[in-house]
Amino acid sequence: VFVTFEGGDGVGKSTHIRYVANELRRTGREVVCLREPGGTGIGESLRAMVLDPDNGEISSEAELLMYEAARAQLVREVIRPALERGAVVLCDRFSDSTIAYQAYGRGLPLDFVRRANAFATGGIVPDRTILLVLGNTRKSLARATGAGAGDRMEQAGEVFHSRVNRAFLKLAKRDPKRIRIVRSSSSRKATAAAVAAELADILP
Ligand code: C5P
Repeated sequence: VFVTFEGGDGVGKSTHIRYVANELRRTGREVVCLREPGGTGIGESLRAMVLDPDNGEISSEAELLMYEAARAQLVREVIRPALERGAVVLCDRFSDSTIAYQAYGRGLPLDFVRRANAFATGGIVPDRTILLVLGNTRKSLARATGAGAGDRMEQAGEVFHSRVNRAFLKLAKRDPKRIRIVRSSSSRKATAAAVAAELADILP
């Protein structure tokens, strides 16, 4: 069973992956937790490269290809073998992030990003995707589009992130069977319960 966790920065993906993994392990299942980009030697090197501010401004095109390279390796080296032996794979970000960040966020052509995703994943699609969104999306959206925003850089950052967040919601709307929206509330326990409820049918 392949489950991915998506959402903007700081929504608590890694925390909830840990909760789900702990619960599943208690039932004796093998659980593999991964993050993107990363999860393999090559993937972690690419992650360090793509996230290192000392490397200067990375072009959107190069960024896309680096994420896809990391993903291609992760699928073949870890995800596919794990699924074949019956493990549960929990992945922090996957193809939907590339659609949200590189296509909607950075403005790369959507059809090309989709094809690059299909090439990198070899056609593997998550059985379920948990889209974590902050409870106050509307507030942060309002901040992104109007009054009170700080300098231009900050404003650009907020506009970018609101584009990304809207893209995730759009993807969820288009594929409600796979992508389940969970509002990340102030109570971690309540959020964890909501995540568990969205996984109950595929991970009883
Ligand atoms: O997963 P994590 O929140 O650590 O992501 C690190 C950063 O990488 C994010 O803040 C996001 O801006 C960026 N990212 C991206 N494109 C992706 C995945 C992540 O720009 N496809």
